[in-house]
Amino acid sequence: MGSMKSALQEEIVGRLAKIVAPEYVTTDENRLDELSWDALSEGRLHPANRPEVTLPLCSVLPASTNEARQIVLLANEKKVPIIPYGGGSGLMGGALSVQAGIVVDLRRMDQILDVDPPARSARVQAGTVLEALEKRLGREGFILGHDPWTLPVATVGGAISTNSIGYRGGLYGSMGDQVLGLEAVLPDGEVLRTRAVPKSSAGIDLKSLLIGGEGCFGIITEATIRIFPAPEERVLHALRFESFEVGYSAIQELFRQRVEPAVLDFGDADVKFQGGAMFYLGFEGNREVVEAEEQRALSVCERFGAQALPQKEAERFWNDRHEIARRFMQNRRQRRERGRDGFHRDWIHVALPASKVLSFRAAAMEIAKQRGVQVLESGLWIQPELFSMPLGIHDDGTNKAQLALEETVDELLHLVHAMGGSMEYTHGVGVKLAPLMAEEHGYGVEVMRRIKKTLDPNGIMNPGKMAL
Ligand SMILES: Cc1cc2nc3c(=O)[nH]c(=O)nc-3n(C[C@H](O)[C@H](O)[C@H](O)COP(=O)(O)OP(=O)(O)OC[C@H]3O[C@@H](n4cnc5c(N)ncnc54)[C@H](O)[C@@H]3O)c2cc1C
Repeated sequence: MGSMKSALQEEIVGRLAKIVAPEYVTTDENRLDELSWDALSEGRLHPANRPEVTLPLCSVLPASTNEARQIVLLANEKKVPIIPYGGGSGLMGGALSVQAGIVVDLRRMDQILDVDPPARSARVQAGTVLEALEKRLGREGFILGHDPWTLPVATVGGAISTNSIGYRGGLYGSMGDQVLGLEAVLPDGEVLRTRAVPKSSAGIDLKSLLIGGEGCFGIITEATIRIFPAPEERVLHALRFESFEVGYSAIQELFRQRVEPAVLDFGDADVKFQGGAMFYLGFEGNREVVEAEEQRALSVCERFGAQALPQKEAERFWNDRHEIARRFMQNRRQRRERGRDGFHRDWIHVALPASKVLSFRAAAMEIAKQRGVQVLESGLWIQPELFSMPLGIHDDGTNKAQLALEETVDELLHLVHAMGGSMEYTHGVGVKLAPLMAEEHGYGVEVMRRIKKTLDPNGIMNPGKMAL
């Protein structure tokens, strides 16, 4: 163990070692430095809203709900923050150490406790990595359904806490949609268990406290999630449209005809494809249904002038979909510093009424242009309402360029709110979007604060996140 910082730290480390065994507590500064960050990079924070990131007092790896509970009780006694930590791939700073506390690293809680084929459910500990679960389910003839870029790194608990969404979200929904039941240690050390059933009208749904809760309302320790029989058939197409607008109209027509693909990835094409817009479109399920949907979809796309690209382009897209996460895992620290290659990047992932997407896109491009920011792409994921736009600007040696980028992002998110949309559809709030929570929720943020205050009177559970 590295150097002891204080008597408090020493006492906490000693007590934690008794809860979990000494080898599962660390004060090693190198390790703590790694755990003090997630995948939010410094440059994506508005300079006026950049929290100080500090070394945690220590990290601890519980193996059971009971150990997690004892850790939470200790944190309350000592009034020390807890920062739940899964795969650390969150993009909004939800797992950032903005106050020195105990990082509760869930990755030792990685047991797949039960796979129940007739119930089409799996009960797992929260630190289970999604890919490990997917592999195990594959052996039983099932799939997880949730399939984000970060399948090899994200944990079940982290995915639920951010209500994450993946490539096949059109068919399987978000991670939160798949949760049947949850077990969580609440901020006061009580254990909440909800019944693992798909529907209930016996009171309000307490799972919602934890789904998208980013660790502010407790530590998820176990989840029972819906799993799906492996599809009989899966098809994927790569198509190209003359323009974003034409492709968007085709997608709208698909949904009007109730054709809702499992995979929908649409966006501006790069020069390799002579511009226009690319559309990756996939269906999976029973053979007859897939064939019928595929036929209907392709005939709609054809009517809008889509050009079919070689099957190998669709395969490349599919086979590479988790590569970026593997690169991230090899290169966590480097990602932290932004603009290291002389270019600053940020993005928006917003939800808008489908009728407003094209006008938002046009306005967003104008705003970016006026501020000297490049729109790197614009696109849709899963459904026509879910719009994203990566943005970038060359570093100018001062912090002006980066400021212009962050002010553009802010302006775009204000516009989303003004147009009735939501500022983020998949990555959560963390510290990055916290300043906009009041605008997003109005009085709702006050409701969240009151719930938080009631459950977490000492304010120990992931403080400084989500404007709570
Ligand atoms: C290259 C890249 C690609 C990505 N692609 C996608 C994508 O396709 N779709 C998508 O939705 N997201 C994506 N993300 C974001 C990220 O992978 C997801 O948000 C993921 O769900 C986070 O899981 P995690 O286990 O890494 O969580 P962490 O980053 O460890 O934590 C996320 C939040 O949840 C809290 N938390 C973690 N575990 C628990 C728990 N057990 N109980 C309570 N709170 C907890 C943390 O405190 C934090 O606030 C991507 C990120 C990267 C870097």
